[in-house]
Amino acid sequence: MPRSRLHRAPAISGERFAVLDPATGEPFDEAPDQRPDELDATVEGAREAWISWRADSRARSVALLEAAEAVEAAGGDLAPLLTREQGKPLAESYAEVARTAARLRYFAALKPGREPIEDGRPVRSEVRWRPLGPVAAIVPWNFPLQLASAKFAPALAAGNTMVLKPSPFTPLATRLLGSVLAAALPENVLTIVTGREPLGARLTSHPAIRHVTFTGSIPTGRAVAGGAADSLARVTLELGGNDAAILLDDVDVERIAERLFWAAFRNCGQVCMAVKRVYAPARLYSRVVEALADQARNVVVGAGLDAGSQLGPVSNAPQLACVERRTAQALADGARAAAGGHRLDRPGYFFAPTILADVPSHSPVVTEEQFGPVLPVLPYEDLDQAVALANDTGFGLGGSVWGTDLDRAEAVADRLECGTAWINHHAELSLAQPFAGIKESGVGVAGGPWGLYGNLRPFVVHRPLEAP
Ligand code: NAD
Repeated sequence: MPRSRLHRAPAISGERFAVLDPATGEPFDEAPDQRPDELDATVEGAREAWISWRADSRARSVALLEAAEAVEAAGGDLAPLLTREQGKPLAESYAEVARTAARLRYFAALKPGREPIEDGRPVRSEVRWRPLGPVAAIVPWNFPLQLASAKFAPALAAGNTMVLKPSPFTPLATRLLGSVLAAALPENVLTIVTGREPLGARLTSHPAIRHVTFTGSIPTGRAVAGGAADSLARVTLELGGNDAAILLDDVDVERIAERLFWAAFRNCGQVCMAVKRVYAPARLYSRVVEALADQARNVVVGAGLDAGSQLGPVSNAPQLACVERRTAQALADGARAAAGGHRLDRPGYFFAPTILADVPSHSPVVTEEQFGPVLPVLPYEDLDQAVALANDTGFGLGGSVWGTDLDRAEAVADRLECGTAWINHHAELSLAQPFAGIKESGVGVAGGPWGLYGNLRPFVVHRPLEAP
């Protein structure tokens, strides 16, 4: 792991708000509470910086590669700060830093081509790709660095500039990342702003912004889309999920239990593409419940900075309240906690890893995104019923099918209504693949070349073959 070189975010004067450590529930630092009226100058700076940033793709690649090195070198400062404000185990914070650097390298190497239009006409007609202008990015608190890089790496590689706002729950590592990147990027190419609402609402509805890229919940996504309607900026939304995992009757329960468990509980279940519902064949139901409960009972829960912690606290108090509410409702609806089911009796936002059995399918822990360390397991009688239940939701982010006969599993996966379906895995993502939710889980495509093109517009040059 890289050693600390004591990188610091720049000081900004004015109002500040407290940042809490979810492992204690206590404030440990603060961040600037920037006023919405400061955004005019910030966005104007991004617009001016765009003029030279858009002009030289080779210089952009060099800068993004330098930025990747700077991020790696700062890992020893970024990762512990991320764990402190977000709660995740330190190794996962280092993984976020590594992913951020990898994404910068991936997009530094990606260039849009020129595409001739060959349709038989005696003309030379060609599609070229142009950046959009200043981009506004808003990210949530579950993967602050990784999701910020999913915004700025493709946008900057495409020749746009960006103003990015992290969640007020996790502003610090992103601010530090901004100052680390400032060593490699020209001024105002990427500006991090922090503050409480209505800062995000004002940023995403700013008239000079040409692309709004948002990751967060569905209700906020709707508000963001509405706010961008006046300027008619392009809108990309990566929203919530309620991914189902369907276990087939030939699944090797004990063999997949650990992988399935972590597909649901990584980052304390606070993953848009976590497994959030498990459908198990009735004849295997009790074995599946018991195998997952066994995993849950044996997880080491602790502060992310403590060596050996596998699962940290829930990231903030409102999210903990949501997890408690949904679990209590499920238990009141007749569910049984095969493991956990309650908050842990210690300071901070710790919740016992929870496996819920016998949950009615209408309970909110099944129908809504629980976004915490809680997993409902539901039985099914026949496969058509399982597929129908998996698809019976407004969410459409991911899904998975688990079994031994891979062809059969793939045929079932093909019937899932979502953006990505895995077999015997869940949420394994490559930088090179498209990432897009369907239904209410998203608008637009991120990831891979699709993510680059999401930050570009086509520009057609059409000329005759000969002068008149
Ligand atoms: P959230 O919607 O509450 O907040 C997301 C961001 O929006 C924060 O930075 C917040 O400050 C900002 N915000 C709040 N109100 C705003 C407004 N009116 N205008 C503009 N910005 C505003 O979400 P959250 O609780 O921070 O994150 C959890 C959600 O994010 C879950 O639903 C999860 O599934 C989703 N998520 C989706 C993906 C994906 O790629 N599809 C990835 C990670 C998280």
